[in-house]
Amino acid sequence: MQGKLNVQTENIFPVIKKFLYSDHEIFLRELISNAVDATQKLKTLSTRGDFKGELGDLTIDVKIDSKKKTLTVSDRGIGMTADEVEKYINQIAFSGVTDFMEKYKDSHEPLIGHFGLGFYSAFMVSDKVEIFTKSWKDEPAQHWSCEGNPEFSMEEDKKHTDRGTDIVLHIADDCKEFLEEGTILQLLKKYCRFMPVAIRFGEESVWVDSETDCDKDGKPKRVEKKQPRIINDPEPAWKKSPSSLTDEDYKKFYHELFPMNFEEPLFQIHLNVDYPFNLTGILYFPKVRKTIDPNRNKIQLYCNQVFVTDQVEGVVPDYLMLLHGVLDSPDIPLNVSRSYLQSDGNVKKISQHISKKVADKLEEMSKKKEGEDKSALEDKWDDIKIFVQYGMLTDEKFCERAMKFYLLKGVDGSYYTLDSYREKIKALQTDKDKTVCYLYASNAEEEHAYIEKAKAKGYDVLLMDSPLESHFINLLEQKIEKTRFVRVDSDTVEKLIPHDDSIPEKLSKEEKEKLQPIIEGEVDKQKFTVQLESLEESDAPMQVTQSEFMRRYREMAQTSGGGMGFYGELPESYNLVVNINHPLIGRVLNETDEAKQKDLVHQLTDLALLANGLLKGEALSKFLKRSVEMI
Ligand code: ADP
Repeated sequence: MQGKLNVQTENIFPVIKKFLYSDHEIFLRELISNAVDATQKLKTLSTRGDFKGELGDLTIDVKIDSKKKTLTVSDRGIGMTADEVEKYINQIAFSGVTDFMEKYKDSHEPLIGHFGLGFYSAFMVSDKVEIFTKSWKDEPAQHWSCEGNPEFSMEEDKKHTDRGTDIVLHIADDCKEFLEEGTILQLLKKYCRFMPVAIRFGEESVWVDSETDCDKDGKPKRVEKKQPRIINDPEPAWKKSPSSLTDEDYKKFYHELFPMNFEEPLFQIHLNVDYPFNLTGILYFPKVRKTIDPNRNKIQLYCNQVFVTDQVEGVVPDYLMLLHGVLDSPDIPLNVSRSYLQSDGNVKKISQHISKKVADKLEEMSKKKEGEDKSALEDKWDDIKIFVQYGMLTDEKFCERAMKFYLLKGVDGSYYTLDSYREKIKALQTDKDKTVCYLYASNAEEEHAYIEKAKAKGYDVLLMDSPLESHFINLLEQKIEKTRFVRVDSDTVEKLIPHDDSIPEKLSKEEKEKLQPIIEGEVDKQKFTVQLESLEESDAPMQVTQSEFMRRYREMAQTSGGGMGFYGELPESYNLVVNINHPLIGRVLNETDEAKQKDLVHQLTDLALLANGLLKGEALSKFLKRSVEMI
């Protein structure tokens, strides 16, 4: 029989060929998906008792014939009768593809997964496509053939007696890479690695005991043997029930997914929903230490075990893109553009569901188990803190949940929930305006001297050292009323948490006015603001501090790129706090020898800088020389 496909445009084939040029490779996924479907349908018919014959070996075969320049996909599924070829291939499949082209011909956005092209995507890489098919019903086999134009031929095929379908692609000259074993193997590994029916392609070597040869100890020799290669794992972990899997199984699967990731994941969430949408998958938490991995395509999206994409923007909230793993859902529309995807109701629900599950998991981990001195969350906290902060900063709902389990860490290494920490510090660290002041250090080493001073006052100091910290602190100040965060070096210890009790001043107003220019004359005024303050006599004569506000905004501007440019460009500036009650400051004021007075001021400022690690290079050498002279 000869026929003409029912198409409006005569020239649809060249269009298909050109369409999605860079993604020609998806033809293989489409054909193998069809073969898998045909096989699964047969299995269903068999369990229902409609098909009474032998199922036999249902493995799908992919074969390359480089001489004939063909690539063949064969299945032992339900096959098609002549009527079915007419209906499914000539009419439906074709109208499907026409619809698809019509809908997306003007779309400039990449489409998710490019689903919907189906069988006809074979023409993207072929000059001619043949179908040999025999239905499970007792009807003659058919041979269908089409050369990439609207004409096709179909005839009975007397030679073909086995049930199932062979799709034979005569690969076009400009697509020769699809005749190479390496290319096809790579594509099968990419798209078909977890398809639910075994797929055979080529051969692989295995080492086995020889049946005939022994070594001198009488043990059988190990010999290399070739065997057919199965390229997929038809029962991936995410399809199994969570109760049947151990932690080891999950780790093993992680390495199966990401063979190039050598670090172990911290823990995982197994998703398994069937109402109101269908979603399965496993999400692993990797260690996120100091940086946020910009390479975020570590979540693979599947549709019924068929790989779709590893670009999941829009499907999961941004902060969850830091996770690794797989999501499988037939309810995510795949033949749409990304911008459409984000407004799709199901996708929104799925995204919210994942976010909720992540919060559930973290909350559960935050509960201490009986007999344990640490919760699981404390145990992993340092490795996931940035992740939680990122989530709280970008997802309002997640933030609400996380306020309950977020952990603050003290410089001594203990962890507190937000509530318990406030209770702990409330008594000593509430200032005269009833604001609770949380003291923190960004670097316990560099800010050591300040931490010690705060501790001596009975204050507690937190360690807040993630790259998101300045943004995060702002968030906490908004979320928790009457709260202020101050870094330990942002003021003298008395002023970090201002209380009402002031210390009497030893210098008169006139003396202070005389002192100010003496000191200002000796420091870099661009960088330092001289502040005379009435502190304890036992405090240092001079101290260097950095305003919390200025420092934090500078840091935020530097980590948020644009928008806050003004703050990012501010020079670093410090306060030089002079303790007017200290005897040495009295000496500065009363020194009549101008050279000696200058030396004394330099010595005192240098000591203050030294305590901050700010005295370097030439200034440091001068300081050392001057110190020796003075002694
Ligand atoms: P889709 O798979 O999305 O329905 P296709 O264009 O890929 O669209 O295929 C159209 C129809 O042709 C299928 O629904 C199926 O009925 C039939 N078909 C395709 N390939 C096979 C096959 N290998 N075995 C049996 N039927 C097939």
